Amino acid sequence: MSAPRIGVIGGGQLARMMQPAAVNLGLHLRVLAQSPTDSAAQVIPDTVIGAHDDLEALKRFAAECDIITFDHEHVPTEYLAELQAMGVAVRPGPHALQYAQDKLKMRHVLTQAGVPCPQWAQLHTPEDLDAFAEKVGWPLVLKTARGGYDGKGVWVIDNRDHALEVMERIVESGTEILAEECVPFIRELAAQVARSPHGQCVAYPVVQSTQTHGICHEVISPCPDLDDVRAAQAQEIALSIAQLLDVTGMLAVELFDTGDRIVVNELAMRPHNSGHWSMDGAVTSQFENHLRAIADYPLGSPAPKAPVTIMVNLLGGDLGDLHSAFRHVMARDPQIKVHLYGKDVKPGRKIGHVNLLGDNLSDLRERAWHAANYLTGVIDE
Ligand code: ADP
Repeated sequence: MSAPRIGVIGGGQLARMMQPAAVNLGLHLRVLAQSPTDSAAQVIPDTVIGAHDDLEALKRFAAECDIITFDHEHVPTEYLAELQAMGVAVRPGPHALQYAQDKLKMRHVLTQAGVPCPQWAQLHTPEDLDAFAEKVGWPLVLKTARGGYDGKGVWVIDNRDHALEVMERIVESGTEILAEECVPFIRELAAQVARSPHGQCVAYPVVQSTQTHGICHEVISPCPDLDDVRAAQAQEIALSIAQLLDVTGMLAVELFDTGDRIVVNELAMRPHNSGHWSMDGAVTSQFENHLRAIADYPLGSPAPKAPVTIMVNLLGGDLGDLHSAFRHVMARDPQIKVHLYGKDVKPGRKIGHVNLLGDNLSDLRERAWHAANYLTGVIDE
């Protein structure tokens, strides 16, 4: 049996980080990237330049692949159905992916299945807004159903006039309006699972993720002080969603923990920032398990290698001379693992991350943040 040819649509850092896992598994990756300078295009020799929303480009790309997977969730599902009709395996398939693309569809399907969600409604008119505000009070949250990322497309709103203004803006952008109660969470969690077409699943430890201005900044695995019952509940939610929606590959379920309940925020059907810790901290990284899952190979152990792993994102700042910063970080702490994405530095842009594993959280935290702050020019000693 020859190894399947795997095509990744999208040339971002997630596709880039699949490449070392593919090399180790002897799998051939090709990528459909926007530009030869894209993060993944720099490291995957078999790069094809094309747009993810150009059907002809997708078909030409897919004709040379056995399996298609994704760096992002923006490919129109009707195009994916056409690729399936050509006989290419699309993993995750368009039927699953629609729920990661459209937050209203996601709320419908999860509510119907009894999965705990924040209170929500679709809004069309000012009267819909008034009725929902009456039910959940202010502040409330408005979201674009489609196209949001890293907090763009999410507004926490405390008055009617602002809400009406945002509703208008969402409609003008050509999408629909999802309203949610503003969940009084004490922390955000993520539960990740891998699922293969055979239906084999593995669940990673539930992590705590902390955002800065809507962008993931720090992940701690496993989530500190999360009791076993609630950790198992979060894993159970992720496993049941993977099964319910027939997800193949990695699924990340972002959750809110209010202290007495856990509710689903959103879904990602691909490797996810909340799983980057696993590159150094788990027996099998999320990138390897994503490839194993889509190739329908037996899945690898998601077990942690140490009591705690911390990941801190490098959010582009004033990097200065990266390589001299590297020397300092490497010399100061030989345990630190640095991962860079080959991206130009822009304020707030994810350009890499650091991982550190061990057994003392406060010590790991101090060291990982020192490295991240030094590398992004926040501190210089
Ligand atoms: P994105 O698709 O941009 O990642 P999310 O739906 O994950 O958007 O929301 C981004 C952030 O906004 C969340 O991480 C959370 O901090 C906040 N948020 C989203 N929905 C709610 C909600 N219903 N209640 C309170 N905060 C929310």
